Amino acid sequence: GSADQKVKSKLKNPFLKVEDRRCRYRPFYLQLSSFPVVNYSNPRPCSPFDVEKKNAHGQKHIHNKQRNPTNSDREKRPNQVPPKHKRRKGYCECCMKKYEDLHAHIESEQHQKFAKSSQYQVVDDIISKFSCDFLELRENTPNVKRRKCNV
Ligand SMILES: [Zn+2]
Repeated sequence: GSADQKVKSKLKNPFLKVEDRRCRYRPFYLQLSSFPVVNYSNPRPCSPFDVEKKNAHGQKHIHNKQRNPTNSDREKRPNQVPPKHKRRKGYCECCMKKYEDLHAHIESEQHQKFAKSSQYQVVDDIISKFSCDFLELRENTPNVKRRKCNV
């Protein structure tokens, strides 16, 4: 496979390379066009690593750097999902499965099975040791008036 192909290419400066001492694991790299610089002129509480950009009106504007500037070219999304139903990618630790859409995964048979299983007994065991000191209201109880809280 591709492991046989020994492509020796030097890392371009500036870069960061992290490797375990025993060389058992693949090193990982970070290559940037420029290293982050601590910018003291950024107004608080902005990050000192935020990049300052001047917009058309000459006003200073703090621009948050993209989290993965190196990956942004590779992972260009063809269509942006409308904000109302944001697809949330992630990993489910219950099903040990990656999912593309959080909602779809929660509705899936595998996850529903887990959610209704007795796997949460460990949580229930801890909860059973707590005492509940909230006032429990029964529905439509006329005697107990709820106090309004002024914020
Ligand atoms: Zn799941």
